[in-house]
Amino acid sequence: MTDRVIYATIPGLDVRLLSSVTTDLVAEACARHRTTPAASAALGRTLTGTGLLAMTQKGHERTTVQFVCDGPIGGIVAVADARGDVRGYVRNPTADAEPVNGKLNVAGVVGGGTMHVGRELGADIGTNREPYNGIVEITSGEIGLDFAYYLTVSEQIPSGVSLGVFVHNATNRVLAAGGFIIQLMPGTSRDIEEDLTARVAAAPHATEMILQGASPLEMLQTALGNLDVEVLEERVLQFACNCSRERFLDKLAALPRADLEEMVADGTGELLTCHVCTASYTVTIEDLRALLPDERVH
Ligand code: ZN
Repeated sequence: MTDRVIYATIPGLDVRLLSSVTTDLVAEACARHRTTPAASAALGRTLTGTGLLAMTQKGHERTTVQFVCDGPIGGIVAVADARGDVRGYVRNPTADAEPVNGKLNVAGVVGGGTMHVGRELGADIGTNREPYNGIVEITSGEIGLDFAYYLTVSEQIPSGVSLGVFVHNATNRVLAAGGFIIQLMPGTSRDIEEDLTARVAAAPHATEMILQGASPLEMLQTALGNLDVEVLEERVLQFACNCSRERFLDKLAALPRADLEEMVADGTGELLTCHVCTASYTVTIEDLRALLPDERVH
């Protein structure tokens, strides 16, 4: 099934529902970065949560989520935009921690620190709206609860968040990933809040539903019992980086002339690797020579 995210509501209630299946994009990110199962869970949950947050954005807007943390994973970065492109990486993909009660110890690899969320506008958009930046303490390290804490405290919308990644024991392959966010907008009554909270608490885990083939809409319908869910918007999600050979050549061109001359003198060319997606680009001596500014005397 193609990765998708939906934005939905319940007619008559002030609730915002976001739900996604991200199995393919999380599996691709984890395969590219060769993450351990615990690091896969941490990265996959962060990619999924970021993709869900970006669903409320339009046009060239972009959401960046960063965990600046002291656990062995050393840090997590995820970026998602309104086109459905999602990418990210962890500082230490080999990070691991002893499982707890047979479950991947995500909090153990993340540790403590801060969670940063940036809601930026694309550079090519002609408005002057200020980007929104929020920082909260990492209160759980399990990622889902941290997204819930961020949304409730920083964006001031009480939110329930379920994010999951299921990793196959023997192969380390990601077999299911996804999650949902249920947000109570201002004006939601205490009764409705309690009812929705109880329904979500009783719902099966997101990855359990995804393993059984549930779509983002079916996950919400299961989580919310028999309530009527109306889909307002749907997008396809994919792992996609914005790196390119041209971008790397632009970065090289900005280096001091002496550095470029040294690379040319070195005679081997360069192999440049994107740390976000692990794509590699070969830069030949001819490419490097072409970047050297002309030094003719006028
Ligand atoms: Zn890249």
